[in-house]
Amino acid sequence: MKNIVSLESLQNQNKVWDVVIVGGGMVGATTALAFAQQGFSVLLLERQQLNLDWSEEGDYRPRVSALTRASENIFRSLGVWETIQNHRNCAFTDMHIWEDISAAEVHFSAKDIDEPNLGYVVENDIVVNALWQAIADHDNIKVLLGESISAVNLADETADITFSNQIMLQAKLLVGADGALSKTRELVGIDHTEHEYQQCAIVGCVETELPHQATCWQRYQQTGPFAFLSMANNVSSIAWYLPVEKMAWALGLNAEDFKLAIEQASGLKLGKITKVYERAGFPLVRRHANQYVLPHFALVGDAAHTIHPQAGQGVNLGLLDAAALVETVVTARDAEAQDQKDWSRKSVLRRYERWRKGDNAIVQRSMEGFDWLFKQENESKNSLRSSFISLGNKFLTVKNWLVKQALNGRGDLPTLAKQKYKTTKRLNRG
Ligand SMILES: Cc1cc2nc3c(=O)[nH]c(=O)nc-3n(C[C@H](O)[C@H](O)[C@H](O)COP(=O)(O)OP(=O)(O)OC[C@H]3O[C@@H](n4cnc5c(N)ncnc54)[C@H](O)[C@@H]3O)c2cc1C
Repeated sequence: MKNIVSLESLQNQNKVWDVVIVGGGMVGATTALAFAQQGFSVLLLERQQLNLDWSEEGDYRPRVSALTRASENIFRSLGVWETIQNHRNCAFTDMHIWEDISAAEVHFSAKDIDEPNLGYVVENDIVVNALWQAIADHDNIKVLLGESISAVNLADETADITFSNQIMLQAKLLVGADGALSKTRELVGIDHTEHEYQQCAIVGCVETELPHQATCWQRYQQTGPFAFLSMANNVSSIAWYLPVEKMAWALGLNAEDFKLAIEQASGLKLGKITKVYERAGFPLVRRHANQYVLPHFALVGDAAHTIHPQAGQGVNLGLLDAAALVETVVTARDAEAQDQKDWSRKSVLRRYERWRKGDNAIVQRSMEGFDWLFKQENESKNSLRSSFISLGNKFLTVKNWLVKQALNGRGDLPTLAKQKYKTTKRLNRG
């Protein structure tokens, strides 16, 4: 990659970067590309060395994301969707939810809402690689790998960033996109609230005896939900929610026992498990930063919020953050270019915070409600849930409205996320 630079090469330049972004995951890399495409000079910091050797023949990786239409639109707007779509992903057209203790079930279908699909299940590495390929070609972006920031001072006109070797860089805007345990959030002194679900998610890809039919299947049971998310070549990604103390057990099972455990958890919905790929486990924690912005500073993605993954919204919300932040700053820059006002002052960045924080909180809270409802704890709650599922299935208007909201994003969407493209049907029915 030609735009990788060393810290030493930057230290004598006396340059004030427009934007320095800490964290090159899906959200940070999207933010970097979106700012660069708007003419900002961007320095992207990533602590890990890049691993861009993803190959079509390689094993399926454990981490995947269900991407909404709004996220698809953001990637299309940035010119990376073709690369993402060309690699073994799968559009899913249906979603089926049922529980093991009643006959209640609900089915969502793209054709009921006149859409070609309900989203895409994509390996995270494919998204990151597509973004980094575009970053590698962009003249406005420089990349700094493996360096660690140790202090941030938010001064009158800049964010001053000090590295562990005492070298200092300056930016008009510093963006924290460094994930759930964000160091930048900590360094600027933004506090956050946290709730541990006492639950973990075991994820990984599997092959199944029966075709997945481009459908995401979700079963609710006593121990927590179990889901198959449909991917290319009749591979499904599993999301198996367990009490957190069972994580080590599930990760430690040998392949044959793991297959049996999944068959049991899925109620053999897709028949026997014929192959398992690498798996991973995550304790689930909801976090929300008390503030998203300070003068010359903004948080995006998991650095600002993490949510329960069962409705697959985390990175979709983070991508909306990225698009909203860039749009807010570009609007301010373009409006204020004449009198040279400062587009990274707090009053501008507060517009981004007002745009996204409430929306993210609503999705977090609705996940909470969902999690509460689907925990099988007592008779009265069980019957409430069964009625909810059955009613949901019958009231088509409500059901279709809900699925449209989940697919297209709710509220005031950033321009990058708005529908401008004709989405084509692309199915891989396994
Ligand atoms: C089990 C599970 C399933 C999920 N499924 C879905 C789904 O289906 N759909 C969905 O929308 N979301 C899903 N999510 C959520 C989604 O994975 C996250 O929201 C998303 O990965 C967040 O992206 P990010 O770029 O903000 O953070 P991260 O992916 O955490 O990236 C942060 C980056 O910053 C780098 N970094 C960290 N610290 C530093 C530092 N000090 N200096 C420089 N770089 C640093 C890291 O190396 C990393 O590259 C799921 C989450 C889990 C746990």
